[in-house]
Amino acid sequence: MTNSICILGSTGSIGTQALDVARKHGIRVTALAAGRREKDLERQAREFLPKTVYIDKERYSSLKTLLADTSIRVVSGEEALSALAYEDESDTVVNALTGILGLRPTLAAIDSGKDVALANKETLVAGGDIVMKRASEQNVRILPVDSEHSAIFQCLQGGVKPTKILLTGSGGPFFGKDRAFLEHVTAADALKHPNWSMGPKITVDSSTLMNKGLELIEAVHLFDVSPDQIEVVIQRESVIHSMVQFADNAVLAQMGVPDMRLCIQYALTYPERMESPSAELDLFEIGKLTFYRPDTETFPLLQLAKDTIAKGGNLPSAMNGANEVAVGRFLRDEIGYTELFDVVIAATEQAHFVKEPTLEDIFEADKQAREYVRAYRAK
Ligand code: MG
Repeated sequence: MTNSICILGSTGSIGTQALDVARKHGIRVTALAAGRREKDLERQAREFLPKTVYIDKERYSSLKTLLADTSIRVVSGEEALSALAYEDESDTVVNALTGILGLRPTLAAIDSGKDVALANKETLVAGGDIVMKRASEQNVRILPVDSEHSAIFQCLQGGVKPTKILLTGSGGPFFGKDRAFLEHVTAADALKHPNWSMGPKITVDSSTLMNKGLELIEAVHLFDVSPDQIEVVIQRESVIHSMVQFADNAVLAQMGVPDMRLCIQYALTYPERMESPSAELDLFEIGKLTFYRPDTETFPLLQLAKDTIAKGGNLPSAMNGANEVAVGRFLRDEIGYTELFDVVIAATEQAHFVKEPTLEDIFEADKQAREYVRAYRAK
């Protein structure tokens, strides 16, 4: 297991749960990074005594004042985040940032030879080819934190390559609804997830099934399978967190109550298993499990993601950038729910295709797709 961690995104949902795991198992925390919540970060810093903390520029002086009586170094600025991931002395960087902002720090952590416990799915969606290649060159591990990828990773500990991955999802709050219903969905509706408690961006992505699409792309990179080897299965109860199938058609599933702490803990204690705060699974209480095919006609972003990774290159980056901006605009009530679908599809379709993109090409595709969605005028 890991002895020490640095957490990027420490005040968010994954970050605070990673700190719960660190507290429980005595894992040393060497650095913490957060965006805006300087009071939460101060509290975390006083408890875990990291060497360095990072905060966004607007909150830098405020945090510096709050921690003036300590010897904790306070840093800021986008380059400081990557520098922190590189220079930090921990064994493992927990990347729980939201969005493409997480890509450079992931690469910095890899370049410095640290393992990465990855919860930032955009890192792999946009830059998966580069990230996985760099990780294998540096001989570092990318340990999945996302519940589905953790499940797949756990099922693959036998070391045999799967023929198929059955990627499960709850179906989200609008399971079974039609397009006419979705026209009227508001941000408040989309922020109510039936089974998981998560940040706003991922909760909206879960409702559109884009989250499953991003996870499908993540799985292609993490487990080196082709997109058509991945089948999305709606598993309404969120008890099976994903499954793998082998050449003999044996299927292995990982099950448990929906609790991210188990996934985070496994990434940090791997390959060991330890006592966790996650509750025991009561199958008699659950009674039955139900399975459905995803409705990709009503929820077209899942199909878009599958088509986009099949083409590859810089297109997943364009799609991801478009989606980040579109979700933001939907949450600010600037575009409707189905317009979110339409604009992400249009932005991905108009992207200029580069088959073997450099890191710069990836950021350029992201930037252009964002501009496209920002310029989009709602009807
Ligand atoms: Mg997930």
